[in-house]
Amino acid sequence: MLFPEKKYSFYKDITLDSALDFSKRSSFVKEIMLERVYPTKVIIPMKQHYGAPCIPTVDVGDKVTIGQCVGMPAKGTFASPVHCGISGSVTAISDITLPNGVTCKAVTVVTDRKRTHHPSIVKRNDPYISASKVTGIIRNSGIVGMGGEGIPTIAKINRAKKAGVKELLVNCLQSEPYATSDLIRITDSAEYLIMGAVALAGAVGVTKINFLISEKRKTEITALMSAMERTAGRYSGYIFNIRYFRERFPQGYYRLVAKALYDKDLGSGQTLEEECGAVLFNCSTVYACWEAIADGMPLCSRVVTVTGEDLKGHNVLAPIGTPVTEIINSVNGRSETTNTVIWGNALTGIKIADPDNTPIIKTTSAVTVVRNEDKVRTNCIHCSGCVRACPMGLDPGIIKQFLDNRLFDLAEREGVFDCIACGACSYICPSGMDLNETIAAFVRDSELRIERKKPAYTTEKMDIGSLSLLENYNEEENGGRQGDDDKIVLPFEGGKIV
Ligand code: SF4
Ligand code: SF4
Repeated sequence: MLFPEKKYSFYKDITLDSALDFSKRSSFVKEIMLERVYPTKVIIPMKQHYGAPCIPTVDVGDKVTIGQCVGMPAKGTFASPVHCGISGSVTAISDITLPNGVTCKAVTVVTDRKRTHHPSIVKRNDPYISASKVTGIIRNSGIVGMGGEGIPTIAKINRAKKAGVKELLVNCLQSEPYATSDLIRITDSAEYLIMGAVALAGAVGVTKINFLISEKRKTEITALMSAMERTAGRYSGYIFNIRYFRERFPQGYYRLVAKALYDKDLGSGQTLEEECGAVLFNCSTVYACWEAIADGMPLCSRVVTVTGEDLKGHNVLAPIGTPVTEIINSVNGRSETTNTVIWGNALTGIKIADPDNTPIIKTTSAVTVVRNEDKVRTNCIHCSGCVRACPMGLDPGIIKQFLDNRLFDLAEREGVFDCIACGACSYICPSGMDLNETIAAFVRDSELRIERKKPAYTTEKMDIGSLSLLENYNEEENGGRQGDDDKIVLPFEGGKIV
């Protein structure tokens, strides 16, 4: 297959082909089918997204089923509902602190091993689907950005509409070592991605759809192209393109996408929608949208890459809330007690102390196990490797020095809040300095401190019984109510795309 010459990269100077290219360390995915994890219990945090925590809609002792809403936003708050991915009984509602420092309530459900679905989970059979229906379903299905930030997808749709964007971008640029949870969605379900992208484009009000992918992902590119030929060709109103990127970590971050595609340096607080006229959705998020639209299934499970020392890399499909230990055991059958477990990917993840009681959430794309070893640490040798590696143009060595000496103002002046916690600096540092760990932890703590100053949200139970919000989406304001200007975005018959 011939790929076009134009290749994008955020790195505009000398682009070394080998520069932080981990594609060869991500080639283990050969699964014909995704393995499924059936956990004994799930621990479902009420805050897995950017925004306020949800309020539990169930009580201890309640029976719940797959797809049932167990937490919804308090009135007037910006949040995304949470759903249960197993059937069983609620055994606890207690406080949890997640590895990212978020503290909220969590609903624990112990499985009944029946895998009963909620009655509202049915394949869609409307003859057409309109833009307002799409937005209603996405909001009520609890879909958030699954690539890391966890911004409710409905908020992004609204922001894109307000900004009048001209194109929709599907982010298939997963570039961390061993991370392939997004990429397997392309080989496994490329048609779902195409249709999800069409639905989102319709909801946003654009017709241009660009898939962003590394030039090195030949298998995934082939899968995308053939799905486009099979599916997208039927929708002549939409224009599809593939944009090829050089493999370079961490290209998928939105500010680096802006740099690569539009040659714009976005400052913190500036959005892709307003500055570049584009809206970016992670490809697992796009999949989740179409799963909600076509299959009626809210976001209650996700693909997680399980990898690291002594583990053969795998992708598994796990209910959200599955404890990390159960995910690790599902691929190698034993618990890794002597190794360090990371909640997330090798470079950007967070070390966890209690994998038995730490759940995966909507944004957890990987669980990584690394061997315990005392890193040899020496003083900075001023090689400036970290400066060259930093995609945000920071000087991580200097920033760490400032933070270590509690010179926070100076660290801020050096741009500490522009850090995207990519981990490239720590990876590259020959002195073994924990640059990312120090910088990212400072940024995370500062953000949490700001968030804690916001008004407290009510924690009372909201009585919606056992109704899945999906049942109600037609009654939501502007969600599912077809008006005169409500465009049909997809003809859709008998649960199948026509
Ligand atoms: S972790 Fe932060 S400071 Fe380090 S390379 Fe990434 S963006 Fe730069
Ligand atoms: S990479 Fe490490 S040793 Fe080199 S300048 Fe940065 S902090 Fe110092």
